[in-house]
Amino acid sequence: MKTENILEPSYAQLLDQEDPLKSYRAKFHFPTQKNGQPYIYLCGNSLGLQPKTTKEAVLQELNDWKHMGVEGHFHAKNPWLPYHEFLTEAMARVVGASPEEVIVMNTLTANLHFMMISFYRPDNKRRKIMIESDAFPSDKYAAQSQIRMHGFDPDQDLIELKPREGEVCLRSEDIKKTIFENKDELALVLLGNTNYYTGQYFDMQTISTWAHEVGSRVGFDCAHGAGNVPLELSASGCDFAVWCNYKYLNAGPGGMGGAFINKKHLNKVDIPRLEGWWGHNKETRFKMRDAFEPMPTAEAWQLSNPPILAMSAVWASLKIFDSAGINKLRKKAIKLTSYLEALVKTLGEDTVDIITPTSPMERGSQLSIRVKNADKQLFDSITEKGVIADWREPDVIRVAPVPLYNSYSDVLNFFEILRESISNS
Ligand SMILES: *Cc1c(COP(=O)(O)O)cnc(C)c1O
Repeated sequence: MKTENILEPSYAQLLDQEDPLKSYRAKFHFPTQKNGQPYIYLCGNSLGLQPKTTKEAVLQELNDWKHMGVEGHFHAKNPWLPYHEFLTEAMARVVGASPEEVIVMNTLTANLHFMMISFYRPDNKRRKIMIESDAFPSDKYAAQSQIRMHGFDPDQDLIELKPREGEVCLRSEDIKKTIFENKDELALVLLGNTNYYTGQYFDMQTISTWAHEVGSRVGFDCAHGAGNVPLELSASGCDFAVWCNYKYLNAGPGGMGGAFINKKHLNKVDIPRLEGWWGHNKETRFKMRDAFEPMPTAEAWQLSNPPILAMSAVWASLKIFDSAGINKLRKKAIKLTSYLEALVKTLGEDTVDIITPTSPMERGSQLSIRVKNADKQLFDSITEKGVIADWREPDVIRVAPVPLYNSYSDVLNFFEILRESISNS
């Protein structure tokens, strides 16, 4: 990339023309500004856009309910009884797991609790949970409350990994050091992947190996990883993972979450677990008299018959992911994010500082841009000019160029607006 070229609209247009995924943009609704123009939407890390097929998918279920009532459980176009099964394989492909290890259910924080019920089993000696100091607040609340629920004290038993003085990302040698320093007390390593603030993406396999080496369990919150980076959950060896489907996965506000449970924990009767009828062996579920007999898969963690309307939106989105393919998406994401990075760097280190790691192996589709001496006015100004991004106090703009629906021209147009707003401020 020659620097004098990347600022030319023709440069971005050429990349758009050559983009093998360019047709996917038209499959989404973009929010519109007051002037009727679409926004430059770079907020898919917070709430993904609505696929045009979602409405039809939800309407299908509404109509089947209207016309069939309870019979829809068996006779709807997509029968509701096994409905969640229709999603499992596509979901498993997105997160790199085998289908038996994956279940779409509940919401993210709820799933985190369900997983901790099973995999955070503290005793008097081994009772600590390790998280990131800037973990998403919900994850921290969940971990603290689990510690208290077992009669322990989060002030003693919650280890918060902090970046080094003057740094924003965690170094993997420091993660390792903390794990081994707490080798006899660590019960659970719980990390976000990818970090919601910095966009840093951890090597889950290495971290899982360290955690298991000291006898701890390990789980990942993949809220910002699912649909963003190929997670390879099975290969990572982690005990569990959870995620939401409304960020990169476009399942709509408050959409259903997902959970991964490592194969080695499946098909066990004695595992501590909160149980309900939808986790019971489906062959005998409706006899309703037998003792609980778990499904031999991650489905054993399901409690209720699932919300079909919400699930239909997840399914509509997964079909798009399946047709694009997570590896092709990743390839474009690397290129698109690097383009944004190259543009932002032309502003100079005195003006901006990108806090997301530079290596594509340590980040997904998000860049967190710290603008020197900026305040919220700068962010308001780019919003007014047609950009939807995300602001984190005191001075960070988070932007996510999403490979499914963002173009190289989006990235350039955003950059021009940012540059203009900085020079006016
Ligand atoms: C988005 C996000 C959440 C939100 O949790 P919900 O239960 O879906 O409201 C939690 N944790 C992380 C890391 C997130 O990125």
